[in-house]
This record gives sequence, structure tokens and C-alpha cells, in this order.
Amino acid sequence: MFNFKTLKCHHCSAVIFNLPEALANKLEGHAFVCDCCNHTNFLSNLMFIKSAACHTTYLFDTL
Ligand SMILES: [Zn+2]
Repeated sequence: MFNFKTLKCHHCSAVIFNLPEALANKLEGHAFVCDCCNHTNFLSNLMFIKSAACHTTYLFDTL
């Protein structure tokens, strides 16, 4: 039996994916961009956390 894990956007709570927990474990450490709000979610311990690297999105800040 698979134990499904529903992962929602940290920012807007939209469902990003619904996967068996074993598969979600393999995605540990990956970042997913939300289709609804473009927020980058970082997968850690089967939970989405705010990406520590999200500031890299704002390239203009470095110019
Ligand atoms: Zn979102």
C-alpha cells in the first residue's frame, strides 16, 4: 500500500504534487516552482519550505 503525500505551495497552498511517500523521498532537496504564484518551494523532510535560494530570482539586484 502506498502512503500518498500531498505537497502544497508554502506561499499560496496550491497543490504542487501528490505522490507516494517513497517517490516523494527521492525528490528530497529539489526545488519546485509553484504554477500559481511562482514561489520556489524547497522540499525537505517531505515538506515544502521557503527556498533559501529564492533571492537568486532577483537578478537585477546584483546589477
Ligand atoms: Zn504558490
